[in-house]
This record gives sequence, C-alpha cells and structure tokens, in this order.
Amino acid sequence: MNSNSNPSLKGKTAIITGSTSGIGLGIATAFAEIGVNVMINGFGKEDEIEKERKTLENNGVKALYHGADMTKPNEIEDLIKTTHKEMGSVDILINNAGIQFVSPVEEFPAEKWDAIIAINMSSSFHTIRHALPLMKEAGWGRVINIASAHGLVASPYKSAYVTAKHGIMGLTKTIALECAENNVTVNSICPGYVKTPLVEGQIADTAKARGISEEDVINNVLLKAQWTKKFVGIDQVAGIALFLCSDTAENITGTHISTDGGWTAA
Ligand code: NAD
Repeated sequence: MNSNSNPSLKGKTAIITGSTSGIGLGIATAFAEIGVNVMINGFGKEDEIEKERKTLENNGVKALYHGADMTKPNEIEDLIKTTHKEMGSVDILINNAGIQFVSPVEEFPAEKWDAIIAINMSSSFHTIRHALPLMKEAGWGRVINIASAHGLVASPYKSAYVTAKHGIMGLTKTIALECAENNVTVNSICPGYVKTPLVEGQIADTAKARGISEEDVINNVLLKAQWTKKFVGIDQVAGIALFLCSDTAENITGTHISTDGGWTAA
C-alpha cells in the first residue's frame, strides 16, 4: 500500500492505543506517513516516547501522546476527549494495546487474568463508547480492533488472552451493526505471530511453561501452525489497517481480516 492509495485520509486523526512499541508503533508510522494526524498511547520511557512522537511529526502531521492506562476507564475517556479537543476530530480508532501471560489455568494468577481482560478486551468497549458518537456526528469513521488468530482458535496456556481476543471479535460484530448506517465501519485484524516485544517475551515464558528450549518454541510452537513458516511483518498489519480505512473497504464491516500464514485454515 503506498501513500497514493489513500489520498482521502490526509488531515484525518487516528488514535492508536498501545503505540509506543511493536504493531501499534508500526500502524502510527504508516498513518503519519500518509498525512494522518496521530494520537499515540502506551507505556515506556518519557524520552523515548518523545523521540517517537517527534519522528512521527517529521511527516508533517500533528502527533500527540496521551498516557492513558487501558485498565482505567476514566483515563480512556480522557484520551478520546483530549484527542477531539486537540486534534479537532476522532476519525480512526485502532484498539491495539495488549499484553500476554502464559500459564496453565490452575496456576494462572487472578490479577493477570483481570489485567488481560481489561487491556485486551474491555478497553476497546471504553474507547468505542466515547469515540463512536464523534464519528457518527462527523458522518465517517473507522474502528479497527487488533485481535489475533487467537480470536478464532485457541492455544493451551493462554486462557485469558484467547478469551479476550474471542470477546473482541464479538464486540467488533455488534458495534458494526450499531453504526452500519453512519458510514462507520468496525473490523478486526487477526495476525498470527508478529515478532514484537510481546512475542519475544512469550518465547521465554512458553519455554518455561512447556519445559523446552526457546529455539523449540520458535520452530515447533510459534511457527508450527504458521504454514508459511514466516513471522507476519508489522508493516503487513499496518498495510491492512490502511486498506480498511480506504474507500475500497467502505462495505467491509463486522468482520475480520486474517494475516496468519494459513494458521486458521488448517
Ligand atoms: P507490544 O508489547 O510490542 O506492544 C504493546 C503496546 O501496548 C505497548 O505500546 C505497551 O506500552 C502498550 N500497553 C500495554 N499495557 C498497556 C496499558 N495498560 N495501557 C496502555 N497501553 C498499554 O505488543 P505487540 O505485539 O505490538 O501487540 C500489539 C497488539 O497486537 C496486541 O493487542 C496483541 O495482542 C496483538 N497481536 C500481537 C501479535 C504478535 O505476534 N505480536 C499477534 C496477534 C495479535
């Protein structure tokens, strides 16, 4: 997808939750490169986030940072309201923030369960409920939920993550119906494994949980189901997000696009 494919997006505003790292940062970059103002969010070192923000602004767009914690509904509300106030509109919402924890269910810490459900699932309810009225009023909007192949199929030891990602698929369909006549589409992207800090952490955790080496985890667990034997690229996920915001995708709503190397076909 190149910058000429989406001329109509120039000057619009996108909020990308969890965009200080990995897929979210890749999506923020892809949008900034085609002239979309971006509100970034997520945790990290202050100086590194500021550097990232300035790099995004080098594309000639407005780039702001809001540190809302996705476990806190009042901070999420402030993220949406501040974006609207400072940028003038909330046109595109990318619900991307996410964490992972890998453990057999009997040993799964209850606080990890609560955090994953809050960040990976409930935060999208909170962002959507505040952003949707603004999109409806503007007569155009795009909501993209970064789900996962784990929104469609399960893997052992990921009870909270798989539950949250399946939940996000239901939320996607429901909201899509609620705003179908408002020129607002709601879709999910379901990536297989993308090599980001989140997955790097999982390699070590899965090795521990299964009692195998990290190399075995990459070859025989992560890429086992990924028939292409390739990690998905961050730029590939970002390209799908751009496509879902294009005019071509106007009638794509309430569904998902998989980019999982054939994982969920088997
Ligand atoms: P990552 O760890 O690189 O980035 C996660 C981002 O979320 C970071 O910016 C982090 O600061 C932010 N975050 C975490 N907790 C937060 C909180 N409480 N409030 C606000 N921000 C918070 O991870 P990633 O791999 O880029 O994952 C991004 C999304 O993509 C997640 O929803 C993940 O489930 C999904 N996903 C990832 C993969 C993969 O293989 N990496 C595959 C499928 C889906």
